[in-house]
Amino acid sequence: MQYISTRGGAPAVSSARAIVDGLAPDGGLYVMAPDALPKLDWRALMELDYPALAARILSALLPDFSESEAEAMVRRAYAGKFSDPALTPLRAAGDDLFLELFHGPTAAFKDVALCLLPHLMTASSAKCGHEGEILILTATSGDTGKAALEGFRDVDGIRILVFFPRDGVSPVQKAQMVTQAGKNVGVCAVEGNFDDAQTGVKRIFAAAPEGLSSANSINIGRLVPQVVYYFAAYFAAVRMGRIRAGEELNFSVPTGNFGDILAGFLALELGLPVGKLICASNANNVLTDFIRTGVYDRRRPFHKTLSPSMDILISSNLERLLYLLSGDSALVASLMAQLADEGHYTVPEALMEKLRGRFTAFCCDDAGTKAAIKEVWERSHYLMDTHTAVGWRAARDFGGGPTVILSTASPYKFPAAVLSALGADGGADEFAMMDELEALTGVPMPANLRGLRERPVLHRDCVAPADMLAYVMRRKAEPSWAKE
Ligand SMILES: *Cc1c(COP(=O)(O)O)cnc(C)c1O
Repeated sequence: MQYISTRGGAPAVSSARAIVDGLAPDGGLYVMAPDALPKLDWRALMELDYPALAARILSALLPDFSESEAEAMVRRAYAGKFSDPALTPLRAAGDDLFLELFHGPTAAFKDVALCLLPHLMTASSAKCGHEGEILILTATSGDTGKAALEGFRDVDGIRILVFFPRDGVSPVQKAQMVTQAGKNVGVCAVEGNFDDAQTGVKRIFAAAPEGLSSANSINIGRLVPQVVYYFAAYFAAVRMGRIRAGEELNFSVPTGNFGDILAGFLALELGLPVGKLICASNANNVLTDFIRTGVYDRRRPFHKTLSPSMDILISSNLERLLYLLSGDSALVASLMAQLADEGHYTVPEALMEKLRGRFTAFCCDDAGTKAAIKEVWERSHYLMDTHTAVGWRAARDFGGGPTVILSTASPYKFPAAVLSALGADGGADEFAMMDELEALTGVPMPANLRGLRERPVLHRDCVAPADMLAYVMRRKAEPSWAKE
């Protein structure tokens, strides 16, 4: 199986090359041809442990990796990193089912892919005969940055530079990033929002792609590891007696860049009995409007919400979905050009009908998010973070059959919002609020978030979006980033 560009203007490449390059040279995203996707016999996978399951899925989607090679890599990548032996446990709370994806090193779901990506990147680079250092550029809405820094720190032959929106991440998220140690890591604030940071990174790729790669979900190596937990969740729901094997299971996914939910679509295409994929958004509801009307229109106010990791108006991976459903790269290229030039596009109705067969969408504002946290806490003593709460609301609004809600972050990453949802006034200090939340709820704080306040700040750079390219060129030329 080869990878091709969603925009059709670049040669087909191997899976290893797609991982090393991150973005296709024509500005499109690497994706498989829709008819090249294999079907897996999911019943034969039910008894496998997580690493063995992951190996099957990885080698099916990234054929440069044999199953045994993938399994060894997965075991190495996750060993000792997750605080739950199941890695991504499925928890029942009343009638609700939460897929907890936040038990990794940085307490958000992005760890699942970003523990593995450095291993995939290093091995892919060797398979391609790539010589020289790789510089990973990453734009983050808050959680990718820390997970990528942690994953890539001190990996030989790689440096990583993370851009985060200066005023667009929670204080805990910011503290996690600017205190990051490691001899190959850089962190820089951008005077703008996530879309500015992500657009800036894509421009750098267009201007000077040599030796660059990405840890964002524009990299296919980010998406494939996320397919695994849809299978794991399905099997766990069967074991818990919530569904019969073969029955359809819906997934409600708090969505920003459309990466996580696209992994769910790939699981469905591989043959897992997935019902509806519920796209859950906050007040930045560009995707809700799109899925309902077929019009994608980013010309709208950007809202800073209590679920900052989903404050996104340009949802990159939707491009992959449009290609996978249509197989029409000329159409995708023209829609993306229109988005860049005019800020909107309209998808033909026949394609939207296909899309709505698989996806539905709901959104909720900050008041709805807080009400959800309070309601679920009072009813079943389950503590949701703000993103998970958006997903829970969407699942409730949909209301159709057994549904798994993806729980994408620990509530301790957003203590101010969660405390206030519970009716407690937390004062001004986010770090004190983490302790207060623990005292109030008795839900243990993830060990890796403790002591954040005491860690020294190591990164203070801040640039305007227009200066990102010059900044990258300057940092790239520095012989070493090791700090004394
Ligand atoms: C990144 C993130 C999301 C959105 O995921 P996408 O793959 O960008 O759609 C949701 N919740 C949390 C906590 C996140 O960090």
